[in-house]
Amino acid sequence: MDARSPETSGLSGLLATGAELAVLATGATWSEGPAWIPATQSVRWSDIPANRILEYSPADGSLSVYATEVEFTNGRTLDHDGSVIQCSHGRRRIERDRDGVVTPIVDSYNGARLNSPNDVVVASDGSIWFSDPPYGIVVPIEGHPGEREYGDNFVFRHDPHTGETRPVVIDVEEPNGLAFSPDGSVLYVSDTSAALRTGGGNHHIRAYDVVGTRCKNGRVFAVIDEGISDGFRVDVDGHVWTSTASGVSVYSPEGTRLGHIPVPETVSNVCFGGPDGTTLFITATTSLYSIATSTRDAASTMLARPQEA
Ligand code: MG
Repeated sequence: MDARSPETSGLSGLLATGAELAVLATGATWSEGPAWIPATQSVRWSDIPANRILEYSPADGSLSVYATEVEFTNGRTLDHDGSVIQCSHGRRRIERDRDGVVTPIVDSYNGARLNSPNDVVVASDGSIWFSDPPYGIVVPIEGHPGEREYGDNFVFRHDPHTGETRPVVIDVEEPNGLAFSPDGSVLYVSDTSAALRTGGGNHHIRAYDVVGTRCKNGRVFAVIDEGISDGFRVDVDGHVWTSTASGVSVYSPEGTRLGHIPVPETVSNVCFGGPDGTTLFITATTSLYSIATSTRDAASTMLARPQEA
């Protein structure tokens, strides 16, 4: 990556000096849901239409199939205890993978099945926040055909202590990627309702103030010009690193586009990882890419903090 190029010049303080985009692995159908797994020092992600989960180990450059027939997993994140929380389109639920043993966390709201959870984050209080657009029940290769049983597409907050699941964002047409600001006071939610339509829908990221367990003051944070913001991560200084059709765009906490990392395939999502947490891994259609940064995921500081009562 040439730091002097117009697109990346605004990222000179965020990318490592001389950072180059690298392709690490290829051969997937549609890659999504990357997460860094500290226990195995690997990147785990979903190959949704192939109905499998892949892992890449930077230490030896090996690509392996972690699991098959996984019921169309999508996004995933690390829970505070190191287990993996993941979205399953096929099972229409949020589930936990602990050392390969998969158990349900939540699959319904008010007695109605979820649509097809897409992305998930864990708050500092241990609550699980996830988006529930319809893609897994309307796109045949991404799940099983089905009905939207509660008749909408919400972002939910699930409290694992009380078992309560409650909508927290109801005004996003088709919520997809989500992440918290470093202090947890802002929730970012992308609306990808333009994804399956020609001439309609939204392709932006919205921001909400998190007030207790509620989301208030929703506003458009950034509009994605090329494609959609399928998934994104927030770094320790509050920059938003989001997927677009042509690469990864980075926004300031105020919503100013600072620069863009071109990627030769349509990008779905990103995660920070590597031994020191500064590598940005990029899932893009058939391949996994990486680029060296000088920052880390905001959640890495959240996880390092003592849990709140
Ligand atoms: Mg997504």
